[in-house]
Amino acid sequence: SSARSLNFIEQIVEDDLASGKHGGRVHTRFPPEPNGYLHIGHAKSICLNFGLADKYGGQTNLRFDDTNPVTEDTEYVESIKADVRWLGFEWENEFYASDYFDKLYEFAESLIQKGLAYVDDSTSEEIAAQKGNPAEPGQESPYRNRSIDENLDLFRRMRAGEFPDGAKVLRAKIDMASPNMHFRDPIIYRIKHAHHHRTGDKWCIYPMYDFAHGQSDSIEEITHSVCTLEFIPHRPLYDWFIEKLEIFPSKQYEFARLNLTYTVMSKRKLLQLVNEGHVTGWDDPRMPTISGLRRRGYTPASIREFADRIGIAKRENMIDVGLLEFCIREELNKTTDRVMAVVDENPIKLVITNYPEGQTETLRIENNPEDASAGDREVPFSREVYVERDDFMENPPKKYFRLAPGQMVRLKGAYIVRCDEVVKDADGTVVQLNCTYIPESRSGSDTSGINVKGTIHWVSVPHAKEAEVRLYDRLFTVEDPSGEEGDFKSYINPNSLQVVRAKVEPNLSTRQVGDRVQFMRKGYFTVDPDSTADLLLFNRTVTLKDSWGK
Ligand code: ATP
Ligand code: MG
Ligand code: MG
Repeated sequence: SSARSLNFIEQIVEDDLASGKHGGRVHTRFPPEPNGYLHIGHAKSICLNFGLADKYGGQTNLRFDDTNPVTEDTEYVESIKADVRWLGFEWENEFYASDYFDKLYEFAESLIQKGLAYVDDSTSEEIAAQKGNPAEPGQESPYRNRSIDENLDLFRRMRAGEFPDGAKVLRAKIDMASPNMHFRDPIIYRIKHAHHHRTGDKWCIYPMYDFAHGQSDSIEEITHSVCTLEFIPHRPLYDWFIEKLEIFPSKQYEFARLNLTYTVMSKRKLLQLVNEGHVTGWDDPRMPTISGLRRRGYTPASIREFADRIGIAKRENMIDVGLLEFCIREELNKTTDRVMAVVDENPIKLVITNYPEGQTETLRIENNPEDASAGDREVPFSREVYVERDDFMENPPKKYFRLAPGQMVRLKGAYIVRCDEVVKDADGTVVQLNCTYIPESRSGSDTSGINVKGTIHWVSVPHAKEAEVRLYDRLFTVEDPSGEEGDFKSYINPNSLQVVRAKVEPNLSTRQVGDRVQFMRKGYFTVDPDSTADLLLFNRTVTLKDSWGK
């Protein structure tokens, strides 16, 4: 990573190491809830947590925060592990908050024993009304002063399944007048007769986030528990439980979550896009998910570079997706082969009338001018080549340097050709350009002395492979769809995907799924997993230049 000053969390860690806090240990965790696929915001958190451990010789746990039985699934667990590994990180331990259900239950009983928790029969509406608002003290529940024995009995019967969902909750007994609403006797256990993806039907009561997260950190002896800003008001409660339970003093620190323009990042919203068919799945290349970005052609290094560049802040802001695109473009510029693809549903056939019929010539074309070690490759050339319709104009303006009647261009890596004749079909559509080539103008050994201003790409007709190219654009038409009025889905970009047939040079059929190339003049592309031998599928990762809004 680049030479930059310490971010504020690194500064805290360095101070703690200097003062010998936690015995000089750094132990972080990444705690996803397995209720969806990871997105680029999670990548920021992953890079931060694993990055801290890497930098300071520490460790990172992967902990599935699976305390809510209803929304969680093993499919998500598997995808999360694959995505963290793909990003280039390996965890020390794989843990599940559900592994701690017994321990958390004991913690709850011990709070009851200390007179610090009670069973409440109030409904959720009644509890909300008791809490009131921060401007004035709330009201105590009529069940608040139950005896320890009664609370223990009721809590055990909650666990035994004697009561239906919602009939009772366990609340911490703290302060109904606290200005911090999280201190107004928060619910710590609720009844939910639901099957859990790991514990099955063992439990019908489940701990709330606030009663699971900090305690899980503490059980794992996490030293620096990093989370996003919305948890600042939860921090006093995090500390309160640790203090009252007299357990390992993990500390919580908060940073600003990543918000990215032209997309949404909440798993609930991403799930809607998937379930309602606005995208083809969690790994649709338009999605801001790790799996979507991977299928789009992003590399792990480009995502880590992005995370490094945006840094860690204490204030929410909105990052321009152009920065993410910049990071992948920079990398692909250095690493990809330049190849030729005629991305056109309806290309024009260019016939070189003075080139021998049936002859094929093998040209050697440099793979990457940015990287001499990338070598060159063989590209077949023949009498007939495809060119893009956009590279021809019958009545060109001045300074149009591509094909036009009587005008010369260079076919990339091959020869200079002159357009002699335009052939049209019955409707007047141009279908063929009859050209002559200059035999002495071959690239690399050009003795023609002719200077042309335009170079266009091409693909030999008898050698061309069929491909389908997916040109992706932003999924939303506005920078902040969640911040706009009404349903965020009303801002979906109807043109976020354009599918175009293409003719590509034959060596592309040897590329593997996930390989990345530059289509000259067109952008960076990657081979989609659905490719077949008959039809290559390419996803556009990013354009060559930032063309948005121009
Ligand atoms: P979502 O709002 O997408 O459901 P979440 O915070 O509920 O996100 P978790 O699975 O609980 O999702 O997140 C795991 C970790 O990733 C948490 O520590 C969380 O703070 C962090 N995280 C989630 N979204 C972002 C984001 N946009 N930027 C940075 N970190 C994030
Ligand atoms: Mg969460
Ligand atoms: Mg969430």
